[in-house]
Amino acid sequence: MEIKKKIENLRTELREHNYNYYVLDNAIISDYEFDMKLKELQALEEKYPEFYDAGSPTLRVGGAITKNFETLVHEHRMYSLDNSYSKEDLEDWEKRIQKILGDAPVEFTCELKYDGASISLTYEDGRLVRGLTRGDGFQGDDVTNNIKTIRSVPLQLKGDYPPKFDIRGEIVLPFEGFAKMNQERIENGEEPYMNPRNTASGSLKLQDSALVAERPLDCLLYSIVGVNLKLESQWQMLGKARDWGFKVPKAAKLCKTTDEVLEFIEYWDKHRHELPYETDGVVIKVNSIQHQEELGYTSKSPRWAMAYKFKAEQVSTILNEITYQVGRTGAITPVANLEPVLLAGTTVKRASLHNADQIEKLDIRVGDTVFVEKGGEIIPKIVGVDFSQRTLDSHPTNYIDHCPECNTQLERTEGDAKHYCPNEYGCPPQITGRIQHYISRKAMDIEGLGGETVELLFKEGLIKNYADLYLLTKEQLIPLERMAEKSAENLVNGVAESVKIPFERVLFALGIRFVGETVAKKLAKAYKNIDALMMASAEELMGVDEIGQRIAESVVLFFKNEINLDIIARLREYGVQFEVSAEKLQNQTDLLKGQTFVVSGVFEKLSRDELKKLIEDNGGKVGSSISSKTSYLVAGDKMGPSKRTKAESLGVSIISETDFIGML
Ligand code: AMP
Ligand code: ZN
Repeated sequence: MEIKKKIENLRTELREHNYNYYVLDNAIISDYEFDMKLKELQALEEKYPEFYDAGSPTLRVGGAITKNFETLVHEHRMYSLDNSYSKEDLEDWEKRIQKILGDAPVEFTCELKYDGASISLTYEDGRLVRGLTRGDGFQGDDVTNNIKTIRSVPLQLKGDYPPKFDIRGEIVLPFEGFAKMNQERIENGEEPYMNPRNTASGSLKLQDSALVAERPLDCLLYSIVGVNLKLESQWQMLGKARDWGFKVPKAAKLCKTTDEVLEFIEYWDKHRHELPYETDGVVIKVNSIQHQEELGYTSKSPRWAMAYKFKAEQVSTILNEITYQVGRTGAITPVANLEPVLLAGTTVKRASLHNADQIEKLDIRVGDTVFVEKGGEIIPKIVGVDFSQRTLDSHPTNYIDHCPECNTQLERTEGDAKHYCPNEYGCPPQITGRIQHYISRKAMDIEGLGGETVELLFKEGLIKNYADLYLLTKEQLIPLERMAEKSAENLVNGVAESVKIPFERVLFALGIRFVGETVAKKLAKAYKNIDALMMASAEELMGVDEIGQRIAESVVLFFKNEINLDIIARLREYGVQFEVSAEKLQNQTDLLKGQTFVVSGVFEKLSRDELKKLIEDNGGKVGSSISSKTSYLVAGDKMGPSKRTKAESLGVSIISETDFIGML
């Protein structure tokens, strides 16, 4: 009883902190304290699985896998909104409404139109039971596992909530988190995501909820539907939703007149760029629910609501020059250098031109007056040319065919959006980019060495690749600009220390195209050492979980290259880790290779996580649901009878915890 109470208290406390932090944006304890409490709860839950609770804050970290998102019917249809683009459109709409409602005074609530992925959440007895995407409005995909990882979505409500209802909102990816995600992708040599909206909706469809948990998604709510809810107005609804623990943005207003509505629109058209997330308009709703019911719906949208779309902010300016950037992987990105201009509150000097096709399609030329827009993207883009301003001496843009840094002829493979400089080992930004990646925090994490120093060392001819770092001496460094004795010493020591970095991170640090952190971990685990990995064929590699053809081919190509092999041989000589440590290896075998296990119920000797780890460490796979591919069902206490029936009908062997331990 004591333990149960303790677990429950911790859950309540963590829920409250979670709410303060993610919904109110007002933390009252430090991240560290929060983590300690969460760890304590995790440990208790693991030790006492009988107190499992589907609403526990520990579930936020994800882990559940959804292989196929089930399509389910919305209990209440999700409608679209009619759009308006001008004051006149809005006034017409209000006249139509007033005509239907007669003389009754009509109030409106104004809210912002959040630009993300629509979602409908079902709550029963204060518990989140389901989250469906909008789909076609009649049915959507069940993304509950992923929704549960979004910290601002309450798993357990508080206050006087009705026993059952759906609440609608928008999953958004705030700018700051989006920029950080892209920064990491660039560091991994991956293409950055285009805009927050698509990335938010893409996130909902990731199979691994642990990956969703890592994305800084947010959920903004705006409407409650259900039967017998006893709500009288939209305005009251927003307040109630807030009271129950939902994140309902404060930027909303109850308006008594059309002028007030227009004022709200005007204000936010100017100030929306100060918000942390993207909005694309204002939604105006008739406030009274009774009025709403009288007005009803057309075949696709409510008559009682109207979206007012902001115009995408656009300015025109002169394109002075097109320059070309070369990335670590050799990808070429054209950049527009503009006559500085004020757009959405910031001065814009550069804009993305994306690739050669884009320039050709829009016929963009140096000297043109171009239209620049800031949409959901962080970097503004050029959306068109003001042809009326084009001068007679203008001539079409010739996309470069040689690398601006090393003059090698560029290549473009069928299907690639970009041109590439193939001079991997001779092109300066590619060389320094690779070394910068090697030393970066998530790779070898070399202290005392930064990106600029890498460029300096390269320019001075002291390094040509990351293996050269290990030969640097204090005496070589001290004469360099801004290099004191102490910093030279730190640099040399930092490099020497890096030989302790484990194999999986070394593998990531090598900078193999498409091999990010996660893939590097998977490969390290599957192959244990670099020699085995080097021998693997593309087919074999594709047998590893989540390794597709593109990655497999890139790995094979990397290890075919003499220069890479030479660098690896040198790194090995300097003591860099090229195999999984003996300690880690000791606990790993191939005993369960090719077998898939489903684990269900409560166990005596091992926690469920320990069991899963044992399966994976011994080469087996953990499945989330029983199918014809399942080899064994490890059944514990309190396993549901339906699982047993399903396993029996598919002929899956059912084994106990003891049987399982016996297999090892
Ligand atoms: P549309 O997709 O253009 O038909 O616009 C309708 C969508 O706007 C709805 O499906 C909602 O997902 C979204 N939306 C964003 N903010 C709001 C809001 N405050 N009220 C209602 N809908 C909103
Ligand atoms: Zn080049």
